[in-house]
Amino acid sequence: MSERRPASGSCARCRAALLLDAVKREGVWYCSPGCADGQPELTPRPSAVPEAWLYARPTRYFGKRTPKELRASRPR
Ligand SMILES: [Zn+2]
Repeated sequence: MSERRPASGSCARCRAALLLDAVKREGVWYCSPGCADGQPELTPRPSAVPEAWLYARPTRYFGKRTPKELRASRPR
């Protein structure tokens, strides 16, 4: 039976988020095998995807237009 890894949490040494490569040593979770051995990664790992992909953004173009209510009440 494999150990269930925590759904959330932080590394005991460097406080980084526990990701899929997190390892458990003596009942304590570390973010990576290197961090468990005492060599925390000082430089954050580069993102696997472009940062723009992390944010939802509209793909349609919404042009400037007057609301229908204002157009209906315009003086003739
Ligand atoms: Zn760590």
